[in-house]
Amino acid sequence: MVQDIRVELTKNKRVKPDMKTVKFGKSFSDHMFLMNYEEGKGWFDPRIVPYGPVEMDMATMVFHYGQEIFEGMKAYRTSEGKVQLFRPTENIRRMAISGERLVMPAVDEDMFLAALKKLLEIDAEWVPSEEATSLYIRPFMIATDVGLGVHASKTYIFCIITCPVGSYYPEGLNPIKIMIESQDVRAVRGGTGIAKCGGNYAASLRASQLAEYKGYSQVLWLDGVERKYIEEVGSMNIMFKINGEVLTPSLTGAVLAGITRKSCIELMKTWGINVSERLISVDEVVAAAENGTLEEVWGTGTAAVVSPVGWLTYKDKTFEIGGGQIGKLTQKLYDGLTGIQWGKVPDTLGWTVP
Ligand code: PMP
Repeated sequence: MVQDIRVELTKNKRVKPDMKTVKFGKSFSDHMFLMNYEEGKGWFDPRIVPYGPVEMDMATMVFHYGQEIFEGMKAYRTSEGKVQLFRPTENIRRMAISGERLVMPAVDEDMFLAALKKLLEIDAEWVPSEEATSLYIRPFMIATDVGLGVHASKTYIFCIITCPVGSYYPEGLNPIKIMIESQDVRAVRGGTGIAKCGGNYAASLRASQLAEYKGYSQVLWLDGVERKYIEEVGSMNIMFKINGEVLTPSLTGAVLAGITRKSCIELMKTWGINVSERLISVDEVVAAAENGTLEEVWGTGTAAVVSPVGWLTYKDKTFEIGGGQIGKLTQKLYDGLTGIQWGKVPDTLGWTVP
């Protein structure tokens, strides 16, 4: 059910960033959407209000036990000046899956979409029009009961904030260096890997920071039991082209079901390329790199769309992939998906929502 959204417009418009120098997630739009939940009462008071801080008791549950989930999506401005979303229902459904794992209430799909559309309508001028820029959208939900007992909260806040973001690749697609992480793990089966919750990202910081110190862009995560199977790369899903075949780790329960991953698989199918979703061992990838059959590797995610991997390091041995250049399929996927997102190619798959 879609409830009426109360609107309070800002009296102090925020300063828009220079889209050439804007940092990711640092400059926020004029308004935000908020809605409260109480057990027994459901969701109430949907409202759009000026962006800004909210006062909270320091014993609020989210600060202590991390009962929090979020999403990441984008609004794109087409060359005709229209604003569109990319597969928003996928994000809305994934947030419900995350909520189920962390015992948090779902937001009605129609209400969620209505809130998104209304917020974008009010802050439409914040959707940038410069080449390859977009408005990043961050819906999230936090537990708001006050108290230190460990149990599921009975009250929540659902919020949507947005921020204009620049081109992920100001100088064009750029292959990255990846370190295969054999100590820390991101998630385990039965854990929260399938959910987009803050705790997963907190747990990933140590390995990411160490990799960064060593000059790598991201870590490649292995499974938490045997450190044998490949799961994800940084906060992206990963795909390999080995001997003409495209492979990606199956969604075994620790891997986040990326919407870009799903879109790449579906797009490749329309091109007659089949993708095998299965367990992929790190040994298999290393062997392919050694015998010259590892043709392309790329990450997939909303932020970068596709991110070519040029170098993989495993136990101090570095393998160069495709001469450190962008592979043909990687480039085709990037062009195909961004073409649909920015309305440059016809959306025959019905993925965009005005
Ligand atoms: N894995 C993780 C851990 C992520 O945080 C993300 C980004 N949401 C992805 C994969 C890619 O998902 P999507 O394509 O939906 O952005």
